Amino acid sequence: MLKIKKQSKKVKVLMCAAECVPLAKVGGLADVVGSLPAALKKEGVVARILMPAHGTISLKRLKARLLSDFYVMARGKKERVYIYEASVAGTHFYLLKNKNYFSEDVYIGDNAAKYLFFCRAAIEAIKNISFVPDLIHAHDFHAAPIIAELGSVNRKKRPGLIQTIHNLRHQGHVDAEVLAQFGFLLSDFPNSSTSKNNKTIVNLLAASILRADKITTVSPNYAKEILTAEYGYGLETILRSRKKDLVGILNGIDVNDFNPQTDDRLAQPYGVKNVKSGKEVNKDAVLAYFKMTANDLPLFIFIARFSGQKGLELLNAKALSDLNRQYPFQMILLGSGEKPLEKLASNISVDIGDNARTLVAFDETLARNLYAASDYFLVPSLFEPCGLTQMIAMRYGSVPLVRATGGLKDTVRDGRTGLVFESYSSAAFIASFKKALVLYYKNKKKFDRIQASGLHKDWSWDASAPLYAALYKKI
Ligand code: ADP
Repeated sequence: MLKIKKQSKKVKVLMCAAECVPLAKVGGLADVVGSLPAALKKEGVVARILMPAHGTISLKRLKARLLSDFYVMARGKKERVYIYEASVAGTHFYLLKNKNYFSEDVYIGDNAAKYLFFCRAAIEAIKNISFVPDLIHAHDFHAAPIIAELGSVNRKKRPGLIQTIHNLRHQGHVDAEVLAQFGFLLSDFPNSSTSKNNKTIVNLLAASILRADKITTVSPNYAKEILTAEYGYGLETILRSRKKDLVGILNGIDVNDFNPQTDDRLAQPYGVKNVKSGKEVNKDAVLAYFKMTANDLPLFIFIARFSGQKGLELLNAKALSDLNRQYPFQMILLGSGEKPLEKLASNISVDIGDNARTLVAFDETLARNLYAASDYFLVPSLFEPCGLTQMIAMRYGSVPLVRATGGLKDTVRDGRTGLVFESYSSAAFIASFKKALVLYYKNKKKFDRIQASGLHKDWSWDASAPLYAALYKKI
C-alpha cells in the first residue's frame, strides 16, 4: 500500500511525465512540466518530477545520485530499475533508468510498451522514495496508467490524483494482453476499452480521465472544445461525464528562459526599447545563416513538430508565390516529424523560390534566433490545446498569425496582439497572410502597435500557477 501522510502546510506534488526541459524536449509538454514547478514554489507547493532517464540524458553530467534500485516484472522478465535523483536549476528530479526500455530518446521505439513500463516502474518507485506526495499529477497518456491503477484505491488510502491533457489526439491504445504483460489489471481500466478483431483494446487516457480526482487541460477554450465531437477525438462523452472536475488552466512560459534581453543564444539580445534595431541584427544573422539576401522584407516563420495538427497543409505554395510577387516577403520553416510533412514543407519553400527555406531539424538555438529575427509567426493549427510558440513569438516581438482554435483563441486578439483567422482552409489562411503583408507595407504604425502590445503581454506562470495551487488544495 502507498504511504499516506496528512496534508502538511506545503502541498507536495509528484509530476509524472515523458519529457521535461532541460532534460528532454520534443514539444510544449516538456516546457510546461519544466517550468511549472518553479512557479508553484511561490504558491507554497513543492513539486518534484518523476520521468524516465532516457538514453539521451547524461546522468553523469547532471551529477545524478543513485537512490536505490528494484525489480519489476515486464513481459515475463525481471527488469531492474534504478532510481536516480538530481537537482536541475532548482527542480528536483527522480529519473528511472532501465537498459531495455529507456535507452533511446523520448518517443523512439514501442511507445505503448515503453510507457506502460514507465508507469509500472513509477508506481514501484513512489514506494521507494522518501518524498511522500499529497498528489500525483500525471501528464498525458504516458503517465495515465498510474492514475488508473492508484485510482482504484479508496481516496483515504492514496494520494490525490490529477490528469492533465496536453494533447487529446494522443490517447495510448493498447491491447489488454499487453497491459497484463506489465502487471496492470483490466479491471482497473473500466469503461475504457473496445473490441477489435477479437482483441480488447484499452484506451489509457480514457481510463485516467474516469479515475482522476481532477482533470485539467491547458487552456480554458480547449477545455470547452474537447467536450464536442469535433475536438473530443472520441472521448467527448467521457469528458462530458467528468465536466464538473475538468478545468482549463492556461499554460505559462518560463519568461526568464524565453527572454530576448538575456537570451545568450541570440545573435544579439534586445529589449523592448531597442526591439527594432535588435531584431534587425538577428534577422541579418538568420538570413546569412540560410544564405538568403537581406532585402529588408517581412520575415515569416513557422516552427513546429511536423504533425497534421499544425496546419502546414494550409500553406498553399502557389498562392504564397503569387503574393510574394505582389508584396515580397521571406519565409523560413523549421520542424521535424512525419515524413510526408517534412517533404511537404521542403516542397513549399522550393515552390516559393529563393525567398523561402525549409530546415528539417529540431534545433533549439536556431528556433530562438528565428523567433528573434522574424516579423510574423505562423500558427495555422487544426487544433491547438494551448500552444506556446505564439506566446514565445510575442515575447520576442514577432507578431503571431494564428487560427482561432484552442489556446490560440485565448492568447491572441485579432488586430490587437496578432492576426486571427477562423476557418481551417487555405483560403482563410492566405487571406490572413495577405492582411499581414498589407499591414506591414501599408500601415506600419499599426504593425508596430500590435508588435508592442505582444511584447508587453505577461506570459509568465504568475496567473496560472495559483490556479493549479488552488486546485491541488481542493483535492
Ligand atoms: P506542441 O507541444 O504541440 O509541440 P507547443 O507550441 O506547445 O507545441 O510547443 C512547442 C515547443 O517546441 C516550443 O518551445 C517550440 O519552440 C519548440 N519546437 C517545436 N519544433 C521545434 C524545432 N523544430 N526546433 C526547435 N524547437 C522546436
